[in-house]
Amino acid sequence: MEKRIYNFAAGPAILPEEVLLEAQKELYSYKGSGMSIMEMSHRGKIFDSIIKEADADLRKLLNISDNYSILFLQGGATLQFSMVPLNLMLPANKADYIVTGTWSKKAVKEAKRVGSVNIVASTENENFVRIPNQNELKLDSTAAYVHFTSNNTVYGTEWKTEPEVGNVPLVCDASSDFLHKKIDINKYALVYAGAQKNIGPAGVVVVIIRKDMLERSSDSLHTYMNYKIHADNGSMYNTPTTFGIYIAGLVFKWLLNMGGLDKMYERNLYKAKLLYDYIDSTNGFYKGTVQRDSRSLMNVTFRLPNEELEKKIIAEAESKGFSGLKGHRSVGGLRASIYNAFPVKGVEDFVEFLKDFKSKN
Ligand SMILES: *Cc1c(COP(=O)(O)O)cnc(C)c1O
Repeated sequence: MEKRIYNFAAGPAILPEEVLLEAQKELYSYKGSGMSIMEMSHRGKIFDSIIKEADADLRKLLNISDNYSILFLQGGATLQFSMVPLNLMLPANKADYIVTGTWSKKAVKEAKRVGSVNIVASTENENFVRIPNQNELKLDSTAAYVHFTSNNTVYGTEWKTEPEVGNVPLVCDASSDFLHKKIDINKYALVYAGAQKNIGPAGVVVVIIRKDMLERSSDSLHTYMNYKIHADNGSMYNTPTTFGIYIAGLVFKWLLNMGGLDKMYERNLYKAKLLYDYIDSTNGFYKGTVQRDSRSLMNVTFRLPNEELEKKIIAEAESKGFSGLKGHRSVGGLRASIYNAFPVKGVEDFVEFLKDFKSKN
C-alpha cells in the first residue's frame, strides 16, 4: 500500500486510518448490498440504520440525553452562523457573543443581520493570543443566548472550561475541537461542529440542540433554516449528506473502540504536551504564539526567529512527509493541527525533526 504522510492540515484534516480502510472495504458494495452508500436511498433500510447508529453512538460518547436532538445538516459551520440567530434570537432579539478569533467574528457578522449583538468580550486588540477570563465577560442576563467558539483554529487558543453564563442558553461553535474530550452537554443549549476538522469529511455539520430551544423556531423561517423542521424529520427533510454521515458514524465507532472520550483526551493531552514542552525548551528558537494558559490541544501555533527560517523549515518538513504546517496568514509561522486522528508517533517523529532542524540552523 502507498505510504501515508503525517497530515497536519487544519481542515479538511486527517481521519483515522482504520476508518479509511473500513470505508475503502465497503465502498464498492456496502455489506453485500451490491451498491455503495453514495448510491443508495437515504430513505432505505440501510441508510436509516447508519444514521440511527451515528445518533446513538454520538449520544454514548457525550452522554447526550433524550432532552436533546442531534441533527446532521449541511452548509458547514458557516450556515450555523446564520441559523443560530435566525432560530434562537427571538423573543429578546439580542444575543451575547464572545469574540476570540476569525470564526467568532464571522458568527457576529451574521447575527447582526438578525438582531442586536452585544460583544461581551473580545481579545482582538491583542491579536487573539488568549481566551478572556470569566471576570472580563460583560454578560446580559436577558440575552437570548451567549455564543462562544471553543477552539480558535486560526490562532491556536482554546477554552479550558466553558464560560459561566447563568441561566442564559449557551451556544458553542465546537468545529475544531468537537469530541476531543468529554464535555457536559447539559451546560449547553446548542453545540454545532463542522465535521472536517475532527469528525469526518467536509459537507456535514452536527448540531446538538436542547429540545426546548426548538420551540423558538418560527414557522416563517425558510424551511431549510428551521431547526424544528430538521428535528421533526430526523435530519431527512431533504437529502442529507449520506456519505459524510456514514464516515462520521465510523469515526464515532472508532472513538468508542479507542475507549471513549476520556481516553482520547488523555492521548490529546499527551500529544500536545510533547510538542509544547519541546517548543518551550528551545530558549525561543521555537516560540509559541499564544498565552500559555490559552493554548489549544488541537492547533499548535509557533514561530521561528525569522520568516526565512520558517519558509525553510516548512519546505524541509514537506519533503520529509510532514505536511500542512504553514500557519494561517493572519498569524504567520507554523501551525501543527494534531486532531484526534493524528497519531502519537507522528508527534514524536515531528519533535525529532524539529530538534534536528534546530541543531542544523
Ligand atoms: C473551520 C471552522 C469554521 C468554518 O467551517 P465551514 O465548514 O467552512 O463553514 C467555523 N468555525 C470554526 C471554529 C472552524 O474551525
